[in-house]
Amino acid sequence: MTATNYQKIVIALTKGRILDEVLPLFQQAGIAPLEDIHVSRKLIFDTTVPGVQIMVIRGSDVPTYVEFGSADIGVVGKDLLMEHGSEDFYEPLDLHLAKCRLMTAAPVGVAPVQGRVKVATKFANITKRYFAEQGAQIDVIKLNGALELAPSMGLADIIVDIVDSGNTLKANGLEPLALIAHISSRVIVNKAAMKMKHAVINPLLQRLAEAVEAKK
Ligand code: AMP
Repeated sequence: MTATNYQKIVIALTKGRILDEVLPLFQQAGIAPLEDIHVSRKLIFDTTVPGVQIMVIRGSDVPTYVEFGSADIGVVGKDLLMEHGSEDFYEPLDLHLAKCRLMTAAPVGVAPVQGRVKVATKFANITKRYFAEQGAQIDVIKLNGALELAPSMGLADIIVDIVDSGNTLKANGLEPLALIAHISSRVIVNKAAMKMKHAVINPLLQRLAEAVEAKK
């Protein structure tokens, strides 16, 4: 490995709504992609900082890339970190972006189900853990989207989903019940990279932390 390779840093960002909030923060911290990520079909980009690349992937894949060291740094929602489960990376910084809540929700005006409850969710692991802690027996029905339809279609009694304004729930005849967790975007860092590449990673984290503070 050459000295140049040694200092190379790959940052895995979550595509979608988080990206739109995270890119300006990175720009403020002095890291900007050299091409317009929204226009290009590429998945990895050189940046204004030599040796630092940004890759853009699905949020659920960010912890995996960082855990295995294929990416040194990742930015991902706390919901996906909780769902991923393992904590084989550091989580040094809360960016306070893409804030929302992970909640249970049920049809408005329908009496709570007696006995075993069917819960539709994208977050199967979080849901199992949450209800186990409550001592409740449930069946998890794993879906990949449009969870709000599940109760009215008879697939589930309640859902566990991300809530921001609450408008999506309301539009589908649902109401939020219990808060499972407050969610925001977090920076995660590969453990070996934190040791081996601290000379690059620490100042970068410092600049990001300053950008977060400046935005508050
Ligand atoms: P809302 O109608 O404002 O409560 O938004 C809820 C919908 O937007 C949910 O279906 C979520 O999938 C999505 N959503 C809102 N905020 C976020 C976020 N920070 N991260 C991921 N998805 C979100």
